[in-house]
Amino acid sequence: MDSITSEELKRYAQLAVMTGCNLQPGQTLFVSADVTQVDLVRAIVKCAYEHGAGDVTTFLGDERIGRMQYEYRSAESFKTFPVWRAMLNNSMAEQGAALLFVSSEDPQLMDGIDQTKMMNRVIASNSACKAWRDGMDFGRNVWCIIGAASPAWAQRVFPNEDSETATAHLWRAILHTARCDGDDPAAAWEQHRQSFAARCAWLNNQHFDALHYQNHLGTDIVVGLPEQHIWNGGGESTVGGTYFFPNIPTEEIFTSPDRTRTEGRVVSSLPLNCNGTLITDIDLTFHKGRVTSYHASQGEEALAHIVETDDGSHYLGEAALIPKASPIKQTGVLFLNTLFDENAACHFALGMGFPDCFKGGRDMSKEDLLQAGINESATHVDFMLGTDDLSIDGIHKDGSITPIFTNGDWAITSL
Ligand code: ZN
Repeated sequence: MDSITSEELKRYAQLAVMTGCNLQPGQTLFVSADVTQVDLVRAIVKCAYEHGAGDVTTFLGDERIGRMQYEYRSAESFKTFPVWRAMLNNSMAEQGAALLFVSSEDPQLMDGIDQTKMMNRVIASNSACKAWRDGMDFGRNVWCIIGAASPAWAQRVFPNEDSETATAHLWRAILHTARCDGDDPAAAWEQHRQSFAARCAWLNNQHFDALHYQNHLGTDIVVGLPEQHIWNGGGESTVGGTYFFPNIPTEEIFTSPDRTRTEGRVVSSLPLNCNGTLITDIDLTFHKGRVTSYHASQGEEALAHIVETDDGSHYLGEAALIPKASPIKQTGVLFLNTLFDENAACHFALGMGFPDCFKGGRDMSKEDLLQAGINESATHVDFMLGTDDLSIDGIHKDGSITPIFTNGDWAITSL
């Protein structure tokens, strides 16, 4: 397995900056990454300046140092968020920066750390970094997350390979799933964008009232949709009209369900990696939208932390459609990283819904969105439910049914 070349890094950096962030001349770019990715970050900064970036701010952390604070500090201390960090984040959002995140973390970095500490951190950071969070949630800032292979991550994914081989192997899988292993990644992404647009248009024209999911694992659940729901997928546009891709890779088409109208049972089909803890066979029962019982074969305590984060974490915020033929599923690799694994199969998320998935949602207050059925929570956690035999029926307001998925794939194959 060949390790990644500087030419490939350059092409990948270009995909992130120009397609992912769609960086505009004069715009500020903010890049956050782990120190293991300094070569990629240098390529990103160079590419950004070559394309006229006004200023590039890099934030390089070290995940092992990051872990130490969770080892040594009390849970209570995570209820406050560092002021300087909130100022940095909020100022980036307020000046309209493009926000680029390089994800390369060891999936088991947080093994053995008290989940309460991480939960406190998430809640504190969300309230301290309101401009930052709203900038992304309400389409004011472009943002993009990409993956990058670190030796620590690679060894978890390919434990039987030596560090160098595993890292090269993971890089190959990342570039492939990011559609960055051909001659013209930008053209590949343009084609990808068009196929998303056609699927979303079809789904939006159907105006489904609910979705009915069934498979052999025991999933049998009806998820109500708000009348004004919108299906999104691929990239999105800022309020200022800049088209960008928040996730590279991305394969999902998604909407936000009506938080009060989920009925039935869903069983997960892939393990969920939650801060280093694997949660398997998640089994949730819903009534009137709310989780009434939950169970997991492994990692049930971590699941409890997710479900019990706050009131909103008992409700669904997202339903996403991904056909079984997605390149991520096809690699056969369990990446142990949500950016990749969430694109492997159809999923739901507990927690926050998307203003973007409701007509006019970006101009609505959180209270009005909640009233309209779009969930609100400090958390948003995806779990996979797609299987090769999954069927999803779209139910119209008059009760008539149109199949959306049969046997894990689009019922209508060409649009
Ligand atoms: Zn999703």
